[in-house]
Amino acid sequence: MQRVLVLDKNKKPLMPCHPARARQLLTRGKAAVFREYPFTIILKERDGGDVQPVTVKVDPGSKTTGIALVADFKRSKCVIWAGELTYRGQQIRDKLLSRRQLRRGRRSRKTRYHPARFLNRRRAEGWLAPSLQSRVENTSTWVGRLRRWSPVRSLSMELVRFDTQLMTNAEISGVEYQQGELSGYEIREYLLEKWGRKCAYCGVDNTPLEIEHITPKSRGGSNRVSNLTVACYDCNQRKGSQTAVEFGHPNIQQQAKKPLKDAAAVNATRWALWRRMDNLGLPLEVGTGGRTKFNRMQQKHPKAHWIDAACVGESGEQIYINPCHAPIQIKAMGHQSRQMCRVDNYGFPRTSPKQGRVHFGFQTRDMVKAIVTKGVKCGTYIGRISVRASGSFNITTPIGTVQGIHYRYCTSIHKSDGYFYEKGEALSSATTRVAVSSRQNS
Ligand SMILES: [Zn+2]
Repeated sequence: MQRVLVLDKNKKPLMPCHPARARQLLTRGKAAVFREYPFTIILKERDGGDVQPVTVKVDPGSKTTGIALVADFKRSKCVIWAGELTYRGQQIRDKLLSRRQLRRGRRSRKTRYHPARFLNRRRAEGWLAPSLQSRVENTSTWVGRLRRWSPVRSLSMELVRFDTQLMTNAEISGVEYQQGELSGYEIREYLLEKWGRKCAYCGVDNTPLEIEHITPKSRGGSNRVSNLTVACYDCNQRKGSQTAVEFGHPNIQQQAKKPLKDAAAVNATRWALWRRMDNLGLPLEVGTGGRTKFNRMQQKHPKAHWIDAACVGESGEQIYINPCHAPIQIKAMGHQSRQMCRVDNYGFPRTSPKQGRVHFGFQTRDMVKAIVTKGVKCGTYIGRISVRASGSFNITTPIGTVQGIHYRYCTSIHKSDGYFYEKGEALSSATTRVAVSSRQNS
């Protein structure tokens, strides 16, 4: 069950409580709503109290990061709060690209000839592409927020996909692959990374991949990493007891012999995040992706980002997850637009300069509740608004957009803070979906 975050009257975090308890406190007037997303209450009387240690666990992904708050109760470790944070990634890249193109075009039109200047800038140490940097910023923002709203005493994150220490020598010293063991999971992750997460023979991706022996075991092939690749089920079956050369892929054997060089670059963002987390001064546990998967499979938890987060590291060996638990979905939206006015396809101004962003106390992307009492749009709407200076707002609800709602009907639920929130799917309803694609996990 997703617990409710609780603050005492001095805004010091207390132990997150059960939603029923929060409801009770709110109806008795002993607490007030502090934030709608994630739901946080503030107590009016109480000042401090006993808290159990809580750990923030993070599984950084390329598009979505799982975050879980795990409480260390006497009997077991238990997920008490979970969220999935989706980044802007591609969106940032696209926006920067379009800005660059507009500038280029304008510059060549508006200025006299200048010799081109290039390679005259130096990037700071540890520079990351803006889209990657935003991942680091978003994740550390949320770790910081959770520290403010819950009694966090330690951190835990998945640092690398596979154990580099184990893997750097894997090709030379030959780590043996064995299914079901922890090192087996590390090797699996390593191979997926090395072969780009697609079938080595037909190049298909987004399909369950199997570990495949280039020279089959029946023909004397070893279990060493240099003899392993990943293949889809069909290719694996068709290849049967042939070697890669006989199967018509002579280059595979050569490719397999080359170790994965850029293992560090693969994990650059994660290392940047790790430095951030390390600076917070809390005990920080790190784990590998292989370990996470191993823990999840051992406990037969379904695949989800937040569950992976809970399973990170050694502390993820024994985690209780309530099947009714529905994580909060957090989506990074960015703040406003940096453009001074909208432009047409050629980069010329199309609208008047940007006006103030707050109208009648509302701002675009605020969450509001509108109770319209008369007219054709009579009804209750909860959603995100887009404001207009005229006071006639649009509300985007899960069902669709309602246009032209007057500001007087609107009450603010949650002020825009750069993120969009949605209630996630519960584990029990997700299990059926996972069961269909369970082959992917095995
Ligand atoms: Zn294939």
